[in-house]
Amino acid sequence: MTDLAGINARIREKLHACQHALILSHIRPDGDAIGSLIGLGLALQATGKQVTLMLEDGLPAKYRFLEGSDLISKTTPAEYDLVIALDCSNKDRLGKISADLHVDINIDHHITNDNYGEINLVVPEMAATTAILADHLSEWGLPLDKNVASALLMGILTDSIGFRTVNVTPDLLRISARLMELGADMPDLYNRTLVSQSYPSSVLWGLALGRLQRENGLIWTVITLDDRKKAGYSGRDDADLTNLLSAIEGSEISVLFNEEKDDKVKVSWRSNASIDVSRIAQFFGGGGHPPAAGADMSGSLDEVRKKVLEKTKQMLKESKTKGELRNE
Ligand code: AMP
Ligand code: MN
Ligand code: MN
Repeated sequence: MTDLAGINARIREKLHACQHALILSHIRPDGDAIGSLIGLGLALQATGKQVTLMLEDGLPAKYRFLEGSDLISKTTPAEYDLVIALDCSNKDRLGKISADLHVDINIDHHITNDNYGEINLVVPEMAATTAILADHLSEWGLPLDKNVASALLMGILTDSIGFRTVNVTPDLLRISARLMELGADMPDLYNRTLVSQSYPSSVLWGLALGRLQRENGLIWTVITLDDRKKAGYSGRDDADLTNLLSAIEGSEISVLFNEEKDDKVKVSWRSNASIDVSRIAQFFGGGGHPPAAGADMSGSLDEVRKKVLEKTKQMLKESKTKGELRNE
């Protein structure tokens, strides 16, 4: 059994003893990574601590509206005495800095988290890391004001894709309601992060959706480097196309292949059925959650696509056979 009270007491102690906290999250940051950094960063700053929020890939333009987003930098400060990793399942996903980094506190909700911190608070039941923070900030003696609440609610909204993933619970709605009471503007955050779409990302969607494929319950497509150039899309991410693929009717598993430089391919899986795609991702060296997972693979787009589709089809078939057996 994890000793949650003990873990929280140790986190509280570390947070209060530090002078300068370095807070990091994963490469290709999403709303939960950014909301977690800003939420905890602003709360710590309010208690007089110095903080550096670091994302190796920097802050995507769409999140610049958030108060506190200007605290995010791409570089490491010369001195710091506490390292906190948020929303990051494996140490190497923090980026190049991870090589000789001692992580004091690891706070996350990925079921595949390998507990790489000195203190690990990993809660896989929570739909977002920001929800874990919202749940514990007061216990750690940190204040929750409007800006902290906005950043935290943003993480919940984006990771739950607007409260529509299977891990949405009454408890998550209660946490979200409390963040609204503290001043977070839910409709505004919802529109900015989940509805509003830039023109280049819309063109990118068009190019990728033009080659959409389907085979039984499996739906997939690719984003090529050439698509990015044509669309004028500067981000390294998938412009949230995975969310759209998972919304297509009949899609039990959707897969997006995102071509990157130097024969690298980012693969994203989404599952609408009872199939745990984090297991498939882990097989290819990645990780994630049962309904949403990813892996960074080496090889040409064609090679990776062939390997991944073969394995994914096999898993889909196996899980259907098991389901049939259960129904007998
Ligand atoms: P994505 O497909 O990038 O949106 O990621 C889906 C989920 O899988 C997120 O929770 C990610 O943090 C996780 N994930 C993505 N890529 C990796 C990877 N290479 N290793 C471990 N976890 C990953
Ligand atoms: Mn994340
Ligand atoms: Mn997350």
